[in-house]
Amino acid sequence: MAGPIPNPANFQCPVPLTGHTEIQIAHGGGGRLTQELIERVFGPAFANPSLDARHDGAVLDVPPGARLAFTTDSHVVSPLFFPGGDIGRLAVHGTVNDLAMCGARPRWLSAGFILEEGLPLEVLERVVRSMGEAARAAGVSIVTGDTKVVERGKGDGLYVNTSGIGVIEHALIIAPASVREGDAILLSGDIGRHGMAILAQREGLAFESSIESDCAALWPAVEALLTAGIDVHCLRDLTRGGLATAVIEIAETAGLAATLDENAVAVSESVRGACELLGLDPFYVANEGRFVAFVPDAQADRAVAILQRFAPEGGAGRIGKVQESPRGEVTLRSTVGVERILDRLSGEQLPRIC
Ligand code: MG
Repeated sequence: MAGPIPNPANFQCPVPLTGHTEIQIAHGGGGRLTQELIERVFGPAFANPSLDARHDGAVLDVPPGARLAFTTDSHVVSPLFFPGGDIGRLAVHGTVNDLAMCGARPRWLSAGFILEEGLPLEVLERVVRSMGEAARAAGVSIVTGDTKVVERGKGDGLYVNTSGIGVIEHALIIAPASVREGDAILLSGDIGRHGMAILAQREGLAFESSIESDCAALWPAVEALLTAGIDVHCLRDLTRGGLATAVIEIAETAGLAATLDENAVAVSESVRGACELLGLDPFYVANEGRFVAFVPDAQADRAVAILQRFAPEGGAGRIGKVQESPRGEVTLRSTVGVERILDRLSGEQLPRIC
Protein backbone atom coordinates (compact mmCIF):
# COMPACT_ATOMS: atom_id res chain seq x y z
CA MET A 1 0.00 0.00 0.00
CA ALA A 2 2.20 2.84 1.19
CA GLY A 3 5.52 2.82 -0.62
CA PRO A 4 8.96 2.63 0.84
CA ILE A 5 9.59 5.19 3.50
CA PRO A 6 11.30 8.02 1.67
CA ASN A 7 13.25 9.60 4.51
CA PRO A 8 14.52 7.66 7.47
CA ALA A 9 13.05 9.65 10.30
CA ASN A 10 12.10 9.09 13.88
CA PHE A 11 8.56 9.76 12.82
CA GLN A 12 8.00 7.75 9.69
CA CYS A 13 4.90 8.86 7.88
CA PRO A 14 4.44 8.04 4.20
CA VAL A 15 1.10 9.81 3.99
CA PRO A 16 0.52 12.36 1.27
CA LEU A 17 -2.09 15.03 1.96
CA THR A 18 -4.69 16.22 -0.46
CA GLY A 19 -6.05 19.71 -0.02
CA HIS A 20 -4.93 19.56 3.62
CA THR A 21 -8.35 18.35 4.70
CA GLU A 22 -8.24 14.61 4.14
CA ILE A 23 -5.63 11.96 4.51
CA GLN A 24 -5.54 9.78 1.45
CA ILE A 25 -3.73 6.59 0.71
CA ALA A 26 -1.23 6.93 -2.07
CA HIS A 27 1.08 4.38 -3.54
CA GLY A 28 4.65 5.39 -2.94
CA GLY A 29 4.01 8.48 -0.82
CA GLY A 30 6.26 11.37 -1.68
CA GLY A 31 8.99 12.73 0.53
CA ARG A 32 7.79 16.30 0.44
CA LEU A 33 4.33 15.40 1.74
CA THR A 34 5.74 13.03 4.35
CA GLN A 35 7.87 15.87 5.55
CA GLU A 36 4.83 18.13 5.58
CA LEU A 37 2.83 15.88 7.91
CA ILE A 38 5.78 15.53 10.26
CA GLU A 39 6.35 19.26 10.23
CA ARG A 40 2.72 20.29 10.41
CA VAL A 41 1.18 17.72 12.76
CA PHE A 42 3.64 15.61 14.75
CA GLY A 43 6.60 17.98 15.08
CA PRO A 44 4.79 20.90 16.73
CA ALA A 45 2.79 18.66 19.08
CA PHE A 46 5.58 16.36 20.26
CA ALA A 47 8.73 18.50 19.85
CA ASN A 48 11.71 17.12 21.81
CA PRO A 49 15.42 16.68 21.02
CA SER A 50 15.11 12.94 20.29
CA LEU A 51 12.29 13.38 17.81
CA ASP A 52 13.84 16.50 16.32
CA ALA A 53 17.01 14.51 15.56
CA ARG A 54 15.01 12.81 12.72
CA HIS A 55 16.84 9.53 13.10
CA ASP A 56 15.64 5.94 12.62
CA GLY A 57 15.21 5.46 16.35
CA ALA A 58 15.44 7.34 19.61
CA VAL A 59 18.68 7.11 21.59
CA LEU A 60 17.97 7.36 25.30
CA ASP A 61 20.24 8.37 28.17
CA VAL A 62 19.52 5.95 31.00
CA PRO A 63 20.94 6.40 34.50
CA PRO A 64 23.74 3.81 35.06
CA GLY A 65 22.44 0.61 36.69
CA ALA A 66 18.83 1.78 36.53
CA ARG A 67 15.96 -0.70 36.47
CA LEU A 68 13.54 0.08 33.68
CA ALA A 69 9.85 -0.71 33.20
CA PHE A 70 8.58 -1.23 29.64
CA THR A 71 4.97 -1.59 28.55
CA THR A 72 2.70 -1.30 25.52
CA ASP A 73 -0.98 -0.71 24.90
CA SER A 74 -3.18 -0.33 21.82
CA HIS A 75 -6.11 2.06 21.86
CA VAL A 76 -9.24 1.48 19.80
CA VAL A 77 -11.77 3.49 21.80
CA SER A 78 -15.01 4.38 20.06
CA PRO A 79 -15.97 7.22 19.81
CA LEU A 80 -12.60 9.01 19.38
CA PHE A 81 -13.77 11.97 21.51
CA PHE A 82 -15.75 11.61 24.72
CA PRO A 83 -16.53 13.70 27.82
CA GLY A 84 -13.30 14.11 29.77
CA GLY A 85 -10.92 12.91 27.08
CA ASP A 86 -10.14 11.52 23.65
CA ILE A 87 -8.15 8.65 22.14
CA GLY A 88 -4.91 10.67 22.22
CA ARG A 89 -5.11 11.58 25.89
CA LEU A 90 -6.14 8.00 26.65
CA ALA A 91 -3.19 6.59 24.67
CA VAL A 92 -0.75 8.64 26.75
CA HIS A 93 -2.38 7.96 30.11
CA GLY A 94 -2.93 4.26 29.42
CA THR A 95 0.78 3.68 28.99
CA VAL A 96 2.18 6.11 31.57
CA ASN A 97 -0.22 4.62 34.12
CA ASP A 98 0.97 1.07 33.47
CA LEU A 99 4.53 2.33 34.07
CA ALA A 100 3.41 4.09 37.25
CA MET A 101 1.83 0.82 38.44
CA CYS A 102 5.32 -0.72 38.19
CA GLY A 103 6.55 2.08 40.45
CA ALA A 104 8.43 3.59 37.51
CA ARG A 105 8.69 7.26 36.61
CA PRO A 106 7.35 7.48 33.03
CA ARG A 107 10.01 8.96 30.72
CA TRP A 108 9.67 7.99 27.06
CA LEU A 109 6.83 6.95 24.76
CA SER A 110 6.52 5.71 21.22
CA ALA A 111 3.37 6.38 19.23
CA GLY A 112 2.13 4.22 16.36
CA PHE A 113 -0.87 5.44 14.36
CA ILE A 114 -3.10 3.40 12.09
CA LEU A 115 -5.17 5.85 10.07
CA GLU A 116 -8.14 5.13 7.87
CA GLU A 117 -8.12 6.66 4.44
CA GLY A 118 -10.39 9.71 4.44
CA LEU A 119 -9.81 10.62 8.07
CA PRO A 120 -10.08 14.41 8.24
CA LEU A 121 -6.68 15.93 8.94
CA GLU A 122 -8.34 18.13 11.59
CA VAL A 123 -9.24 15.02 13.57
CA LEU A 124 -5.66 13.76 13.49
CA GLU A 125 -4.38 17.20 14.47
CA ARG A 126 -6.79 17.39 17.40
CA VAL A 127 -5.81 13.94 18.66
CA VAL A 128 -2.08 14.58 18.24
CA ARG A 129 -2.30 17.96 20.00
CA SER A 130 -4.12 16.30 22.88
CA MET A 131 -1.41 13.61 23.07
CA GLY A 132 1.30 16.27 23.15
CA GLU A 133 -0.43 18.15 25.96
CA ALA A 134 -1.01 14.97 28.00
CA ALA A 135 2.61 13.89 27.48
CA ARG A 136 4.01 17.26 28.59
CA ALA A 137 1.76 17.27 31.65
CA ALA A 138 2.89 13.74 32.51
CA GLY A 139 6.57 14.60 32.06
CA VAL A 140 7.13 12.11 29.20
CA SER A 141 8.58 12.65 25.74
CA ILE A 142 7.15 10.99 22.63
CA VAL A 143 10.50 10.14 21.09
CA THR A 144 9.66 7.87 18.18
CA GLY A 145 6.65 6.91 16.12
CA ASP A 146 5.15 5.49 12.98
CA THR A 147 2.09 5.99 10.82
CA LYS A 148 0.34 3.55 8.51
CA VAL A 149 -2.76 4.09 6.41
CA VAL A 150 -5.40 1.46 5.68
CA GLU A 151 -8.14 1.60 3.05
CA ARG A 152 -11.42 3.37 3.62
CA GLY A 153 -13.80 1.24 5.67
CA LYS A 154 -11.02 -0.87 7.20
CA GLY A 155 -9.77 1.28 10.05
CA ASP A 156 -12.61 2.98 11.93
CA GLY A 157 -10.89 6.36 11.79
CA LEU A 158 -7.87 6.04 13.96
CA TYR A 159 -6.07 3.56 16.23
CA VAL A 160 -3.09 4.46 18.39
CA ASN A 161 -0.49 2.19 19.97
CA THR A 162 1.81 3.61 22.61
CA SER A 163 4.76 1.89 24.24
CA GLY A 164 6.54 3.41 27.17
CA ILE A 165 9.71 3.19 29.21
CA GLY A 166 9.95 4.31 32.81
CA VAL A 167 12.81 4.46 35.30
CA ILE A 168 12.55 2.79 38.72
CA GLU A 169 14.23 5.03 41.25
CA HIS A 170 13.81 2.90 44.39
CA ALA A 171 14.57 -0.62 45.60
CA LEU A 172 10.98 -1.83 46.13
CA ILE A 173 9.59 -4.75 44.13
CA ILE A 174 6.07 -3.49 43.34
CA ALA A 175 4.26 -6.58 42.06
CA PRO A 176 1.57 -9.11 43.03
CA ALA A 177 4.27 -11.39 44.48
CA SER A 178 5.07 -8.72 47.10
CA VAL A 179 1.53 -8.66 48.53
CA ARG A 180 1.38 -9.98 52.12
CA GLU A 181 -1.35 -11.28 54.40
CA GLY A 182 -2.69 -8.35 56.45
CA ASP A 183 -1.96 -5.73 53.76
CA ALA A 184 -4.49 -2.93 53.50
CA ILE A 185 -6.12 -2.40 50.10
CA LEU A 186 -6.49 1.28 49.24
CA LEU A 187 -8.51 2.86 46.43
CA SER A 188 -7.47 6.18 44.87
CA GLY A 189 -10.93 7.60 44.08
CA ASP A 190 -14.52 6.91 43.02
CA ILE A 191 -15.07 4.25 40.36
CA GLY A 192 -16.90 3.73 37.08
CA ARG A 193 -16.60 7.15 35.42
CA HIS A 194 -14.67 6.24 32.28
CA GLY A 195 -16.75 3.27 31.15
CA MET A 196 -20.02 5.04 31.77
CA ALA A 197 -18.85 8.26 30.04
CA ILE A 198 -17.96 6.25 26.91
CA LEU A 199 -21.18 4.26 26.98
CA ALA A 200 -23.33 7.37 27.45
CA GLN A 201 -21.59 9.10 24.54
CA ARG A 202 -21.76 6.04 22.28
CA GLU A 203 -25.40 5.29 22.93
CA GLY A 204 -26.50 8.93 22.97
CA LEU A 205 -27.78 8.51 26.51
CA ALA A 206 -28.43 11.64 28.53
CA PHE A 207 -28.17 11.20 32.26
CA GLU A 208 -29.28 13.80 34.75
CA SER A 209 -25.75 15.05 35.26
CA SER A 210 -23.22 14.32 32.56
CA ILE A 211 -20.52 11.79 33.40
CA GLU A 212 -16.92 12.65 32.54
CA SER A 213 -14.12 10.14 32.13
CA ASP A 214 -11.64 10.05 35.01
CA CYS A 215 -8.80 9.79 32.44
CA ALA A 216 -5.69 11.05 34.27
CA ALA A 217 -2.02 10.36 34.90
CA LEU A 218 -1.41 8.36 38.10
CA TRP A 219 2.34 8.85 38.55
CA PRO A 220 2.03 11.99 40.75
CA ALA A 221 0.04 10.06 43.37
CA VAL A 222 2.39 7.05 43.17
CA GLU A 223 5.44 9.29 43.42
CA ALA A 224 3.97 10.95 46.54
CA LEU A 225 3.48 7.54 48.18
CA LEU A 226 7.06 6.52 47.39
CA THR A 227 8.53 9.86 48.45
CA ALA A 228 6.69 9.56 51.79
CA GLY A 229 8.44 6.22 52.35
CA ILE A 230 5.30 4.08 52.03
CA ASP A 231 6.42 0.47 51.54
CA VAL A 232 4.15 -0.07 48.51
CA HIS A 233 3.67 -3.80 47.84
CA CYS A 234 1.53 -3.71 44.70
CA LEU A 235 -0.31 -1.24 42.48
CA ARG A 236 -2.88 -1.87 39.74
CA ASP A 237 -4.87 0.58 37.62
CA LEU A 238 -8.55 -0.24 37.31
CA THR A 239 -8.92 -0.33 33.54
CA ARG A 240 -10.74 -3.09 31.67
CA GLY A 241 -12.77 -5.21 34.07
CA GLY A 242 -12.67 -2.50 36.74
CA LEU A 243 -11.96 -2.77 40.45
CA ALA A 244 -13.26 -6.32 40.89
CA THR A 245 -11.11 -7.79 38.11
CA ALA A 246 -7.97 -5.98 39.30
CA VAL A 247 -8.26 -7.29 42.86
CA ILE A 248 -9.17 -10.82 41.70
CA GLU A 249 -6.13 -10.90 39.38
CA ILE A 250 -3.79 -9.79 42.15
CA ALA A 251 -5.25 -12.24 44.69
CA GLU A 252 -4.89 -15.10 42.21
CA THR A 253 -1.32 -14.19 41.27
CA ALA A 254 -0.29 -13.64 44.89
CA GLY A 255 -2.02 -16.86 46.02
CA LEU A 256 -3.84 -14.93 48.76
CA ALA A 257 -7.42 -13.88 49.51
CA ALA A 258 -8.97 -10.43 49.82
CA THR A 259 -12.08 -8.96 51.39
CA LEU A 260 -13.56 -5.72 50.08
CA ASP A 261 -16.06 -3.53 51.90
CA GLU A 262 -18.72 -2.24 49.50
CA ASN A 263 -19.53 0.66 51.85
CA ALA A 264 -15.98 1.98 51.48
CA VAL A 265 -16.01 2.05 47.66
CA ALA A 266 -17.16 5.42 46.33
CA VAL A 267 -19.47 5.53 43.30
CA SER A 268 -20.89 8.90 42.23
CA GLU A 269 -24.67 9.29 42.10
CA SER A 270 -24.61 9.76 38.32
CA VAL A 271 -22.47 6.64 37.72
CA ARG A 272 -24.62 4.61 40.10
CA GLY A 273 -27.80 5.77 38.38
CA ALA A 274 -26.45 5.01 34.91
CA CYS A 275 -25.24 1.56 36.00
CA GLU A 276 -28.65 0.74 37.50
CA LEU A 277 -30.41 1.88 34.35
CA LEU A 278 -28.20 -0.28 32.13
CA GLY A 279 -27.87 -3.27 34.44
CA LEU A 280 -24.10 -2.84 34.93
CA ASP A 281 -22.07 -3.37 38.09
CA PRO A 282 -19.75 -0.39 38.78
CA PHE A 283 -17.22 -2.81 40.33
CA TYR A 284 -16.58 -4.13 36.80
CA VAL A 285 -16.74 -0.84 34.86
CA ALA A 286 -13.44 0.52 33.49
CA ASN A 287 -11.61 3.50 34.93
CA GLU A 288 -8.67 5.40 33.40
CA GLY A 289 -7.51 7.39 36.41
CA ARG A 290 -8.00 5.12 39.41
CA PHE A 291 -5.83 2.49 41.05
CA VAL A 292 -5.59 0.19 44.04
CA ALA A 293 -2.55 0.13 46.30
CA PHE A 294 -1.58 -2.77 48.58
CA VAL A 295 0.37 -1.41 51.55
CA PRO A 296 1.30 -2.60 55.06
CA ASP A 297 -1.63 -2.06 57.42
CA ALA A 298 0.48 0.09 59.76
CA GLN A 299 1.09 2.61 56.94
CA ALA A 300 -2.44 2.61 55.52
CA ASP A 301 -3.76 5.76 57.22
CA ARG A 302 -0.74 7.78 56.14
CA ALA A 303 -1.05 6.45 52.58
CA VAL A 304 -4.78 7.26 52.44
CA ALA A 305 -4.07 10.85 53.50
CA ILE A 306 -1.65 11.12 50.57
CA LEU A 307 -4.10 9.60 48.06
CA GLN A 308 -6.82 12.00 49.22
CA ARG A 309 -4.63 14.95 48.18
CA PHE A 310 -4.74 13.59 44.60
CA ALA A 311 -8.48 12.83 44.56
CA PRO A 312 -10.30 16.13 43.98
CA GLU A 313 -13.58 14.28 43.46
CA GLY A 314 -13.12 12.38 46.74
CA GLY A 315 -13.45 8.65 47.22
CA ALA A 316 -9.86 7.77 48.18
CA GLY A 317 -9.77 5.41 51.11
CA ARG A 318 -9.16 2.00 52.61
CA ILE A 319 -11.51 -0.51 50.98
CA GLY A 320 -10.35 -3.91 52.17
CA LYS A 321 -7.64 -6.22 53.39
CA VAL A 322 -5.58 -9.20 52.32
CA GLN A 323 -6.08 -12.55 54.02
CA GLU A 324 -4.28 -15.84 53.82
CA SER A 325 -7.12 -17.96 52.46
CA PRO A 326 -9.08 -19.14 50.54
CA ARG A 327 -6.35 -18.53 47.99
CA GLY A 328 -7.33 -16.47 44.95
CA GLU A 329 -10.77 -15.62 46.34
CA VAL A 330 -12.13 -12.09 46.72
CA THR A 331 -15.09 -11.59 49.03
CA LEU A 332 -17.30 -8.52 48.92
CA ARG A 333 -19.08 -7.51 52.11
CA SER A 334 -22.19 -5.69 50.89
CA THR A 335 -23.71 -2.54 52.36
CA VAL A 336 -26.18 -4.74 54.32
CA GLY A 337 -23.46 -7.06 55.60
CA VAL A 338 -24.02 -9.96 53.21
CA GLU A 339 -20.84 -11.58 51.87
CA ARG A 340 -20.43 -12.90 48.36
CA ILE A 341 -17.53 -14.09 46.24
CA LEU A 342 -16.61 -11.81 43.33
CA ASP A 343 -16.21 -13.64 40.02
CA ARG A 344 -14.27 -12.71 36.94
CA LEU A 345 -16.49 -11.55 34.09
CA SER A 346 -17.05 -14.26 31.50
CA GLY A 347 -16.98 -11.78 28.60
CA GLU A 348 -16.12 -8.16 28.15
CA GLN A 349 -18.72 -5.97 29.80
CA LEU A 350 -18.10 -3.00 27.50
CA PRO A 351 -16.07 -3.42 24.30
CA ARG A 352 -13.97 -0.64 22.73
CA ILE A 353 -13.71 1.48 25.87
CA CYS A 354 -9.95 2.00 25.65
MG1 MG B 1 -2.82 -1.66 33.79
